[in-house]
Amino acid sequence: MTSQPSSFAPVHVVGGGLAGSEAAWQIAQAGVPVVLHEMRRDGPEPVRTDAHHTDGLAEMVCSNSFRSDDWEFNAVGLLHAEMRACDSLILSAADQHQVPAGGALAVDRDGFSAEVTRRLSAHPLVSIVREEIAGLPPEAWDSVIVATGPLTSPALADAILDLSGEGQLSFFDAIAPIIHLDSIDMDIAWRQSRYDKEGPGGDAAAYINLPMNKAQYEAFIDALLAGPKAEFKEWENVPYFDGCLPIEVMAERGRETLRHGPMKPVGLTNPRDPLVKSYAIVQLRQDNALGTLWNMVGFQTKLKHGAQAEVFRMIPGLENAQFARLGGLHRNTFINSPRLLDRNLRMKVAPRLRFAGQVTGVEGYVESAAMGLMAGRFAAAECKGMSLEAPPATTALGALIEHVTGGHLEGGKGSFQPMNINYGLLPPMEAPKTGEDGVKIPLKERGRAKKRLMSLRALHDLKAWLHQA
Ligand SMILES: Cc1cc2nc3c(=O)[nH]c(=O)nc-3n(C[C@H](O)[C@H](O)[C@H](O)COP(=O)(O)OP(=O)(O)OC[C@H]3O[C@@H](n4cnc5c(N)ncnc54)[C@H](O)[C@@H]3O)c2cc1C
Repeated sequence: MTSQPSSFAPVHVVGGGLAGSEAAWQIAQAGVPVVLHEMRRDGPEPVRTDAHHTDGLAEMVCSNSFRSDDWEFNAVGLLHAEMRACDSLILSAADQHQVPAGGALAVDRDGFSAEVTRRLSAHPLVSIVREEIAGLPPEAWDSVIVATGPLTSPALADAILDLSGEGQLSFFDAIAPIIHLDSIDMDIAWRQSRYDKEGPGGDAAAYINLPMNKAQYEAFIDALLAGPKAEFKEWENVPYFDGCLPIEVMAERGRETLRHGPMKPVGLTNPRDPLVKSYAIVQLRQDNALGTLWNMVGFQTKLKHGAQAEVFRMIPGLENAQFARLGGLHRNTFINSPRLLDRNLRMKVAPRLRFAGQVTGVEGYVESAAMGLMAGRFAAAECKGMSLEAPPATTALGALIEHVTGGHLEGGKGSFQPMNINYGLLPPMEAPKTGEDGVKIPLKERGRAKKRLMSLRALHDLKAWLHQA
């Protein structure tokens, strides 16, 4: 740890959640002073958000789990390993306050938050100011990280909206499930754009189509209507906009509604059965530049996650679907990062402002902290007159940056939606046929073996990046 006085101007971090706490730590550990502005405080008139209950830094607002800690076969476990290699405060405090949770990294949330607060408060280069930044940060601050999370205070959110332009900031997410391409049965599905229309990319076969006959459609609607739905929190007040209604709400309005909406079968011909008109068709649209992830067009939903997997696997071609992301609809605040941010997480129109955490369009405690880690390192390097490139996209950290700053394919208004880390964001590798010992790997275990290879590649490439950085 650096305890020398520093000659650098401070970086200002707005928001002391998972991302802001990690960013502040990374900056201070690089020898650059940091002022962390957090609006939550105790006192005669305590300040909280709708979801936070304490004034502790890095408060976990819901579950106490950082999910799987398995770096070999799970992308979030891999992200843990990479963050540990980067001296992450969040991972170190989590390791210290772990509670038994099988293969998951779960923590005593109070002990964890107290540890993060204690370590930041004790750092000689960190000042913590309990105040709301109620508008654009002052011009005099020439390096700022905005890490104000899904519940960014309204005054700051409005200022970001003004700066970024209409439609570049969302106050709600409307998430449709995303599927790994290699889990779609292409013996049932086919590629075709509606009416064979060529889009700007000149591709008349841009979509993957999944056909349904009448009986399959009816069974699907029954399951959709019967499936358990997640409730909104009282304060969420999420409005339903026509155009992004949850599919189960559409189905409640009439059994045929979906067939005239996102599941309409017109302009598409099943090449395996060209004379028979499909009763309904589900379309998947490419979601990332790598072409490994495909989203279910118009399928935003409040069905509970377990039910989603079950109901959507009833769709022909998706019987064995692996979901990179399941659907949802929440109050959230996030910017259209692919359009607004450069690869260093700076706002293109105001490069003194960086963004980190959930507000960049990642989803989850770990991913938010990971974006804080990267924003902190970028800001510290810049203060020292150095330039720092993001880690390669073969790493989980690099893949997240790549996704939010360019990897996601623009698919019309609202197509950029929050994303968890998953292997589909990393450049694919061939599944190995034999193990390191030369023994043949059974077909059904090759997917796992591929994940392990991708994790090994990621850790190797991260090490090389850390060495150069
Ligand atoms: C209700 C809810 C439940 C969630 N549950 C989970 C879960 O179980 N698991 C999971 O992985 N993810 C969950 N998430 C998603 C997300 O990963 C977490 O919200 C995570 O905390 C995001 O990290 P962050 O640092 O971006 O934001 P936060 O951790 O929310 O930190 C942002 C901080 O900024 C402060 N702030 C806001 N505006 C200002 C301002 N103008 N000035 C100064 N300070 C400000 C806030 O007080 C807050 O401390 C949940 C989100 C919500 C809203």
